[in-house]
Amino acid sequence: MPTTTHIDDRRMGMPTCMLVTVGCAKNEVDTDRMRALLLKSGFEETTEPDHADVIIVNTCSFLGVATQESVETVLSLAQVSTDDEDGRPRIIMCGCVPSRYGDELAPELPEVDAFVPSDQEDGIVSIAREVLGLEASHTPCGSSVLRTVEGASAYVKISDGCDRWCTFCAIPAIRGPYASRPAAEIADEVRLLMKGGVREIVLVGQDTGVWGSDLPGEHDLAWLLEELAEVVSPYGGWIRVLYLQPEGMTDRLVRVLRDVEPVLPYIDIPVQHCAAHVLRDMGRSGSRAELESLFARLREEIPDLVLRTTGLVGFPGETEDDFEELCEFIEEVGFDYVSVFAYSAEDGTVAATLPKQLDEADLTDRTQRLQDIAERLGFASTARRIGNEYDVIIDGVEEAEGGLELIGHTWFQAPDCDGAVHIEAGEAAVGDVVSCKMVDAFCYELVGVVTAQQ
Ligand code: SF4
Repeated sequence: MPTTTHIDDRRMGMPTCMLVTVGCAKNEVDTDRMRALLLKSGFEETTEPDHADVIIVNTCSFLGVATQESVETVLSLAQVSTDDEDGRPRIIMCGCVPSRYGDELAPELPEVDAFVPSDQEDGIVSIAREVLGLEASHTPCGSSVLRTVEGASAYVKISDGCDRWCTFCAIPAIRGPYASRPAAEIADEVRLLMKGGVREIVLVGQDTGVWGSDLPGEHDLAWLLEELAEVVSPYGGWIRVLYLQPEGMTDRLVRVLRDVEPVLPYIDIPVQHCAAHVLRDMGRSGSRAELESLFARLREEIPDLVLRTTGLVGFPGETEDDFEELCEFIEEVGFDYVSVFAYSAEDGTVAATLPKQLDEADLTDRTQRLQDIAERLGFASTARRIGNEYDVIIDGVEEAEGGLELIGHTWFQAPDCDGAVHIEAGEAAVGDVVSCKMVDAFCYELVGVVTAQQ
């Protein structure tokens, strides 16, 4: 632990921090909260590691590859060298990897100055000051609503943890039991973001469909969406929900997704599999017939519905027939977007102890085959938008072959997940909504021409 006046030797201004996130949208939200706390307490943010006094890496440990990516990110950032040991950036590793591996990490990663599990991230200011050898800060955390988002869409966490204990998943052990955020806190955060210019709120959590079940009263996700619709509507914004589970699709929720204007008719249900014995061994319920009937009902009741799912390939005991059943099911339902994960035996999970673990070659082969189906479905779903006109939220500007182009997304494209709309000509600012005619498509991407500014 450094005890020197690290900052004073290096620069006389405010301490600088760099924040790096590995993993999902939920981690982005946690990083944003730490960013807000650090900026509020006087830190300045940099995106250059060699300008940073402290580098904070918020890690993911959902799968072995995510843990590996987290550790590699930390190690590559730790290589930033300055002339002397005192001047090197201090490294803080936060989030799921410290939550999962605890005390095992320190001897393995001497490059890291502090480890901060997910449930201690609100103490980030004191920890950052401590590793920099600065006096402790007494800046209170202040508000439960702290965001710094500047883009057109913002993730909002409505819960943390999970009670489902799917046998392949380490998340319940890492993030703890399901805990809904209070509705008032979520609404305050949404209001703050909308006032700050955000146009789309993306609600996330490990299991959004059971929001409210652990809170006093009778409130559920459908009720929450109606409450948030009141907040978002005056700004002309959109609300999207990710990470629902099949059991969470109540009649009331279906009605809200169909009828409540700012809530998008976009449903993300990670089914993982459809073969009954695989689902049972995964600790999940249902069967192919039940899932098919659920999605048929959703398509019937919600016109223009967009469906996203996740398939987990190669679970122990998955036979070739089971895998083919999964492929058939995915094609038959005709999901618009499918994420494909290869099963990995995670430390501490029940599935890692099961017999009949697949060999690497089968795993790779099946993952690729489902990935091919996912692409075929996703590309076709994107291409059928050509010729139609949609509202597009502008997310930013990107370099393209012919110069700069605007990048945005429509209601049927979840930000960061489902591709984007590329607009070659036109002027607009981040957060503007423009009407665009779709004139071309490539892979998951659409090319649009502005027809009207709103
Ligand atoms: S629902 Fe299952 S896969 Fe998703 S976080 Fe919970 S335990 Fe993991």
